[in-house]
Amino acid sequence: MVLLRPSLVELQSYVPGRKLPGAVVLASNECPYGLLPEVAARVTELTGGLSRYPDMGATRLLDALAAHHGVPAERIAVGAGSSEVCGQLLHAVSAPDGEVVFGWRSFEAYPILTTVAGGTAVRVPLREHVQDLDAMAAAVTRRTRLVFVCNPNNPTSTPVGEAALRAFVDRVPEQVLIVIDEAYHEYADPAVVPDALALFGDRPNVVVLRTFSKAYALAGLRVGYCVGPPGVIAQVRKAQTPFSVSALAQEAAVAALGEHEEVARRVAVTVGERDRVTRALRALGHDLPDSQANFVWLPLGADSAGFAAHCLDGGVIVRAFPGEGVRVTIGLPEENSAFLTLAGDWTPTLR
Ligand code: PMP
Repeated sequence: MVLLRPSLVELQSYVPGRKLPGAVVLASNECPYGLLPEVAARVTELTGGLSRYPDMGATRLLDALAAHHGVPAERIAVGAGSSEVCGQLLHAVSAPDGEVVFGWRSFEAYPILTTVAGGTAVRVPLREHVQDLDAMAAAVTRRTRLVFVCNPNNPTSTPVGEAALRAFVDRVPEQVLIVIDEAYHEYADPAVVPDALALFGDRPNVVVLRTFSKAYALAGLRVGYCVGPPGVIAQVRKAQTPFSVSALAQEAAVAALGEHEEVARRVAVTVGERDRVTRALRALGHDLPDSQANFVWLPLGADSAGFAAHCLDGGVIVRAFPGEGVRVTIGLPEENSAFLTLAGDWTPTLR
């Protein structure tokens, strides 16, 4: 018998959102509007060059990102989605017995990637659906190598504010890498959710994670990146699977960065819809936190699986975290309305 890694054998696999032909899919926090027009055009042009390997240095994409953020390209590393970049970051700092601290519940890939990288996941309970930065700082030990702060948090949609984040970064020792995951940055109100790139650009142990999968509508092409200190970034780049960001993905990301206006227009619609869905759910009697992302969190506890099953019966796929809550992605206005109709029809099971 092959001696398999016990930590991996025990690990619960990532559960992707379901796909069903004809269903309304509000389960994976994607953008519902399809490819941006420039991206669609560029992807079609490129199909001729796909028999060659992509540019492993992702030069055009790094240059475009450097211009976009006003930072040198040596401060940026890319990967096949920010999930891969999370893995690269973990590999860059991993050590035997190394611990990785994050709030829980948060992005479900954190414990998986931590374990795969050989680390030990330290889950710090949320307080009122919000990451408890004091408790997370207190959970940092001599073995801690990395801390994830997800801002706003997936799946609860809640932010941590500037003062709390500054105090946290000041308190965590400099040998610990702090990864601020801003996958939903574009949907957040800048007055509520601080831009970590602007706040911590000069810190030696802070890396900010961004993705093209949400507001840039490229979830299927897999591009993410992080911005951080050059010394850390050089190691993060080494940990990338060679050529993992395809030629199509690189070019599509460059084209997407050029589409500021369309991205802003779509984000504004999604934010308006998010606020409409939130108000409607509150009017139905649900107690849900204000969202800073492209999804809302319904803390339904024991009713979560039943609520999701009721939605599925009505042709709408939402994401249940059984025993905790339900995450509902903001889709097209008519999709959100279909969801709200189902939410209005739902009655909790009597226990
Ligand atoms: N971080 C967070 C908080 C997320 O919710 C997600 C996607 N669900 C990711 C990172 C990863 O996204 P991707 O790998 O598609 O960039």
